[in-house]
Order: sequence, then structure tokens, then C-alpha cells
Amino acid sequence: MKKYLIIGSGFAGSVIAEQLCKDNLIEIWEERSHIGGNCYTEREKETGVNIHQYGPHIFNTDNVEVWDYIQQFCEMVPYINRVKSIYKGKVYSLPINLHTINQFFNKALSPAEAKDFIQSLSDTSIDSPKNFEEQALKFIGKDLYQAFFYGYTKKQWGCEPTELPASILKRLPVRFNYNDNYYAMPLQGIPKNGYTEIFEKMLNHPNITVYLNKKFAVKDVDFSAYDQVFYTGPVDAFFDYKFGRLGYRTVYFEKHIAEGDFQGNAVINYADEETPFTRIHEHKHFTPWEEHEKTVYFKEFSKETETEDIPYYPKRLANDLEILEKYQNEIETLPNFTFLGRLATYRYMDMHHVIANALEIAQKFK
Ligand code: UDP
Repeated sequence: MKKYLIIGSGFAGSVIAEQLCKDNLIEIWEERSHIGGNCYTEREKETGVNIHQYGPHIFNTDNVEVWDYIQQFCEMVPYINRVKSIYKGKVYSLPINLHTINQFFNKALSPAEAKDFIQSLSDTSIDSPKNFEEQALKFIGKDLYQAFFYGYTKKQWGCEPTELPASILKRLPVRFNYNDNYYAMPLQGIPKNGYTEIFEKMLNHPNITVYLNKKFAVKDVDFSAYDQVFYTGPVDAFFDYKFGRLGYRTVYFEKHIAEGDFQGNAVINYADEETPFTRIHEHKHFTPWEEHEKTVYFKEFSKETETEDIPYYPKRLANDLEILEKYQNEIETLPNFTFLGRLATYRYMDMHHVIANALEIAQKFK
């Protein structure tokens, strides 16, 4: 039997553990007091609502293998995320679709008319968009961009959209029909009993030992005791920030409890720059099959990640990528180490990307 050390028990670490535990001994070090990383869910005591402790996680993928894999560990209930956006006191449909266009411009355009109309608004001087703003101006024109993207993006990322890569906007579709499904992926759901159950099942094996509240530092580990180390924490932290810190945005939440239904939807975005939060999530709407008299909702704020904050969104600005390259060169020289997951690769990854990548990596060690 080989002995593997895994740092972190989010999807990256847990999938590796689950895949390799039959023939190997696995040790997991988790610095938090719970497993599951940012996917951790827990019932809120006063309301009984299952909350996504680190912000909403809606499982969506086009990868059938990943979809089948995850359902070994949970009952996935089909769920469609329908997000609204409030701008200057009016509610609009998201992602930008025919309803949004007709609402915003006070029209009743058909799909073909809307396509022509948006094309007439688009900035045709932009050939290949170099940043978020250019991408938006090219695709939807100035008015929709300023209403739904400019203020929100400035709040979320803390910089001008001209400083951000176009790829961030490419995550969102623009539709010329009334489809208001936030995601374009064909397979979407929410685990019936929350995400924590998935991790409990994945890690429930006699060959896996999980140590909670155990912080990793290179100097504390006798690496010779392990055949391979799988590291899923922040890459810059591994190297004690010797080439500098990578930029991340973090989010934090203001919790509120109320009677009944607060906003009538799971997620409502606030597009105005003047509103200090980016969105409000009301978690009982993620489980419409449950009934709760009270409700719990969270205002989500965004800020730069400081030393004690949880890193969420890799910024990947030019300076970050220069620093990243130095860490990557260093990783190349390390034998028996695998860096995987969002934090260790400093990449914007959805849950299904992390799972698919971990499944692929695990194959090499089977
Ligand atoms: N975005 C926006 N307004 C919205 C929703 C999204 O400007 O109402 C921008 C924002 O910059 C965000 C990006 O579009 O980072 C991608 O949206 P997505 O919903 O994928 O956000 P994320 O997963 O980054 O929270």
C-alpha cells in the first residue's frame, strides 16, 4: 500500500481520496473545523434552512461522467437557477435575454428584431476584445453594459472592467429568447441533503484518516513518509509567499433572519454601483421541496483578500500571472507533489471542473 497525504478536503482533495483509498492509505489535513471546503453546507439553527456557508453553489455541468460520479454520493434534485437583477429600482431578468432587452428598452421585440436591435447598439469598432469592457460593448452595447455589468463588476472585482480579462464576461450567455436559466449547462441540480453529505460519504472509508483543524506548513511535514502529496491549498501560501501574494477577491456575508419569504427568489443581484452589496441570496429557495416558516438571507459584499480572509476569486491580473509563473517553475522542481484545484492552480474553476480534473489526476495513481 502506498501512503498519500492530501492537503485540503474540498472537491479536489476529497475526489483524490475517494478514488485512491481502496488500495492506498490516505491522510487528509484540513485546516478548517469541517470537511468540504467552500461547498460546506449546514442547517441554520433558528430557521432549519440548509445554508451554503460560503455562498451559493448550484451544481451545473455538461460532463455526464462527473454528473454520474457525484450522484453516487447524493440525490441530486434538478434545479434551475433563475437570477434577477435590480437596477435603479426596477427588477430585470438575467442573464441578458429577450425579456431583459424588452423590459429595459420598453419594447416587445421578437427574437430576430432583438438580434438586429442589439447588433445596432454593439460597438463594431472593436474587433477582438482585449478586456471585459470591450467584450461587453461589442456584444451588448453601452446601455445594457452600464446598467447590468459596469457597477456590479466594479463592486465584485474592485477595479475598472477595462482591467479585467474578457474571459470573465464570456461565462455569461446573451439570449434572444425568454430562456432565463442562468447557466448554459444541460445538467443542473442541488443535492437534496446539502453538499456536506457528499463529502462525508466520499471520505467514509477505513483507509482514509481526516485531521481537522490541522494547518499545513512545509516545514512541519516529513515528506519522506509519503509516496505522493496532493496539495489543494493556495499556491503562494505553500511557498510562504516568497515571490509575493497572488491577488484574490474575497466575499463576506451579512446574515438576516425574517418571517416568511424575504425576496421570493434564491438570488437577486444589485447592479447599481451605489448599493454596497453585490447580491442577496435567500437559501430556502435553493430547496423548494422543503418547507420553512422563517427565512435566512445574506447580503454579499466583495473586497480584496487580506491575510486572514478566505481567498475566493483568483484575479489573474498581469502582475499575478508573473508571480504565478515563478511559483509554477518552482513546482516543476518538486518530486512527488501534485498541485490541484482552484487555489493550488490559481484558476477560476467551477465545481465540475475541479471534480473532472481530480478524477483525471487520480487515474495516474491507480
Ligand atoms: N456580472 C455582472 N452583473 C451580474 C452578474 C455578473 O456584471 O449581474 C459579471 C461579474 O463581473 C461576474 C461575471 O459577470 O464576475 C461572471 O458572472 P458569474 O455569474 O459567472 O459570476 P461569478 O461566478 O464570478 O460570481
